[in-house]
Amino acid sequence: MIQLQQIHKYFGEHHVLKGIDLTVGKGEVVAILGPSGSGKSTLLRSVNFLERPSSGVITINGRRVEAASATKEDILALRTSTAMVFQQYHLFKNLRVLQNVMIGLTTVKKMTSAKARELSAALLEKVGLKERMNHYPSQLSGGQQQRVGIARALALNPEVLLFDEPTSSLDPELVDEVLAVIKQVASEGNTMLIVTHELNFAREVADRIVFMEDGAIVEEGTAEQMFTNPRAERTKQFLSKAI
Ligand code: ATP
Ligand code: MG
Repeated sequence: MIQLQQIHKYFGEHHVLKGIDLTVGKGEVVAILGPSGSGKSTLLRSVNFLERPSSGVITINGRRVEAASATKEDILALRTSTAMVFQQYHLFKNLRVLQNVMIGLTTVKKMTSAKARELSAALLEKVGLKERMNHYPSQLSGGQQQRVGIARALALNPEVLLFDEPTSSLDPELVDEVLAVIKQVASEGNTMLIVTHELNFAREVADRIVFMEDGAIVEEGTAEQMFTNPRAERTKQFLSKAI
């Protein structure tokens, strides 16, 4: 499980996260929704210190890390407890698909090449890319590249998977294949924090929905509560765009 307590983030004078408290239980899938600029990506990136929070506490897997006093070891622990799937895939262009998935296993996890290859191939099969293992990322569609990104994240077997708008770069006809893979991953007991603009997808996949605005959580609840009976007017307005 992961727990965020009173996370604040300033970029200079700009107060971007204003005391976020959020707990995600083991196996829980939480979707973060909210308007552009509300701080969703910054929050996600704070979890693994891609952005160092200005203050607050992050606890993952029992390890408590205070932003103010985090050591290198603390940050490494947060990084190895998490894996992120990015909007822009962030694959290594000079490595084949299989190697893109393997690389974290051989370098970070110190797994033997043979074992890493076996596990990576199995994960690529799971995301429907067994036939593309020896291709380079440039030879794949955006949807396929993103599925490689998901396989790579799964390979690390993290405590929590972080998704930042995993379908926002995709042509509309490629969105569904990626959402289907994420849905499958969600159904397998993985702990997930997903920032998305796909409201209907969030409704289907998330155990809980968090609505953010202006650096703060306005409201959170089950998908059912949030979509059928939101308390805050802002939440209502925002979610009414879903079908
Ligand atoms: P979107 O839906 O457009 O992705 P978001 O909710 O993810 O938006 P963030 O990217 O977290 O929003 O940005 C929140 C605020 O923080 C914005 O005002 C943004 O300009 C600012 N911000 C984000 N990153 C930085 C940075 N590295 N330096 C300065 N300001 C930043
Ligand atoms: Mg963002």
